[in-house]
Amino acid sequence: MNKPRYFKESLARLKPYEPHLVPYNIKLDANENPYPFPGSLLDEIFTKIGSKDFPLYPDPLSSRLRKKLAEKLGVLPENIVLGNGSDELILCLYLAFGGQGRTALGFSPSFVMFWHHAFVTQTEFREVPYRDDFSFDLKKALKTIEEQKPHLVFLANPNNPTGSLVDLKTIEKLLAFDHLLIVDEAYVEFSGVSAVELLKEYPNLVILRTFSKARALAGLRLGYLIANKEVIKEIIKVKNPYNVNIFSQIAGEVVLDNEEVFKEEIKEIIAEREKLFQQLIALGVRPVKSHANFILVEFGERAKTIHQELINQGILVRYLGGVLANYLRITVGTPEENRQLLKILEENL
Ligand code: PMP
Repeated sequence: MNKPRYFKESLARLKPYEPHLVPYNIKLDANENPYPFPGSLLDEIFTKIGSKDFPLYPDPLSSRLRKKLAEKLGVLPENIVLGNGSDELILCLYLAFGGQGRTALGFSPSFVMFWHHAFVTQTEFREVPYRDDFSFDLKKALKTIEEQKPHLVFLANPNNPTGSLVDLKTIEKLLAFDHLLIVDEAYVEFSGVSAVELLKEYPNLVILRTFSKARALAGLRLGYLIANKEVIKEIIKVKNPYNVNIFSQIAGEVVLDNEEVFKEEIKEIIAEREKLFQQLIALGVRPVKSHANFILVEFGERAKTIHQELINQGILVRYLGGVLANYLRITVGTPEENRQLLKILEENL
């Protein structure tokens, strides 16, 4: 039966984002920080927020947080815009620079929201595959860019879900066009490689960052975008005026004032990633070298069965299907969580 005319045909094929709501003991499916948010910082947030703040709208530009970030990054506040998670900023990029008659290019497999928000805004989306070993195929990328002349190019660095990383020379090659290059650095704390220094030279570079991963604030939805002032102005035109609530703004400030608190945690997650990588090899499966806080692992045809067995045992990891039907993406947990994961894998392999 035909749907009433107010339904959009363009959305008919799009599946809503439905998270896997199953009971679990250990959550290694969404690349979150496995450690609780530091209690001392939580106290500081509650001290800083007052009951008088609640009835008022938040600062639309998150000015204090914006200034603090600018100082840390060596840019001006006008080079930054805050978002309700970086997901929101990806949508804003499409609202400002995409839409019907415009083209975006991404690399596959990569973060699903690049594709998703292109679809929602009716922006044509083209993909260049990573090589079979998930390394970046620069030659193919440059050739496709020359042919397709996209308005936007999205590169997650490190890439989700593969964990692979490209160097700054490669990024500079991708910048030598008249498109906007969005380098999504959601996992930058685990790779140590950032394109921020290229901002001075390239007005078409956009960097996306988030407080959701290393900064343990996924629940508060806080991300930011760094770019040239003219690009930021366009994003501010299309974003919701009060997109970042007062609680998240204050939490972001407190995190920036206490960055050293997270240093040990980040070091530990990186060390655990390397340990887990070796332990997975010892189990006879094939992990992909990762520069992030997760590892993509090839399990062969049993990937889906193993995914289900892990769920049955209370451990969530991500099954992505499609070209990655033989793989699972596993977030690096605490040493104890990783030990339990390996034990169940050992019993089932
Ligand atoms: N970019 C990448 C590459 C990601 O993996 C994620 C989280 N899955 C995001 C952006 C979204 O982060 P946020 O929580 O800030 O919306």
